Amino acid sequence: MDKYNNKETVRYSSFFSTFFDITKEGKKFLSYRSKRWILIIGIHLFFFLSFYIDLQLLEGSLSGSRFLGFHMIDPFISIQMFVATYHVPINMIIGITTIIIVYLLVGGRSYCAWVCPYGLLSEIGEKWHNTLVSKNIIKNRKFDERVRHIFWFIFLLLSFSSGYLVFETFNVVSILSRAIIYGWSVAIIWVVVVFLMEVFFSRRAWCKYICPVGTTYSYISKGSALKIQWNDNCDHCMVCHDVCFESHVLELTKAKYDTQREKNGIKTQYVTGIDCSLCGRCIDVCHEDALKFDFRLKGLI
Ligand code: SF4
Ligand code: SF4
Repeated sequence: MDKYNNKETVRYSSFFSTFFDITKEGKKFLSYRSKRWILIIGIHLFFFLSFYIDLQLLEGSLSGSRFLGFHMIDPFISIQMFVATYHVPINMIIGITTIIIVYLLVGGRSYCAWVCPYGLLSEIGEKWHNTLVSKNIIKNRKFDERVRHIFWFIFLLLSFSSGYLVFETFNVVSILSRAIIYGWSVAIIWVVVVFLMEVFFSRRAWCKYICPVGTTYSYISKGSALKIQWNDNCDHCMVCHDVCFESHVLELTKAKYDTQREKNGIKTQYVTGIDCSLCGRCIDVCHEDALKFDFRLKGLI
């Protein structure tokens, strides 16, 4: 993408162009989107190699894994397990503690953008969806994103009342992760159904309105050290809003807050919304370099 010379909106950028950015001097470098894709593919390659050639580096799947001997367990699976059985084994407590510490450092919902394999599929679906919308072939349906919290509660209630991890039957993240590592099963049909819903019905609908895995990580986001930082170079062009599927978290980029900021001498602000997945798409497209990653604990290092 040549963000300094073009407005890199979803509509006017080709999908493949978004894997590279171009500096003001004309040099190409990998965008955050590329870095995320490399990490997600790398994680699953390690899972795959651990299973097939016993590499023992990263074993298991995203539901529960062991990285260099450290246990890691998906927090939502752990909560479901607890409400379904009233029992949490010691390995699970170690696993969930490790995960919470890691994500408090690197941003809770960064899991969605930097780890989840369905996220990759969903980004392709998002591009197709936006293309169909821009050609007036379909409409984008928007809902209140807070509905995710209701789904989160309903899935826990189902586990509590049935004694089973009900959501795991529908969990596209686990289904896809297991399919990549251990091979396809008929459950992959559900992933295709969800993908098609995102392409034809509503942009990133699963991630935005349903997935309780992402919702759990967003709760960890609240106290996380890594955030997107905005600065007053911003010219309020709204390109970042266009590429962000959770654009409500970028409210602070609007011009209407400038008077108040100027009055209080505020030059930088953090994106604090818990729905931000730290995907870096907004940084990739911001032609004023008004957004960047900032580690809030850097003063302590
Ligand atoms: S942060 Fe950057 S992309 Fe977003 S409105 Fe401001 S100048 Fe535009
Ligand atoms: S604010 Fe930026 S980093 Fe956060 S979800 Fe939106 S595009 Fe991604």
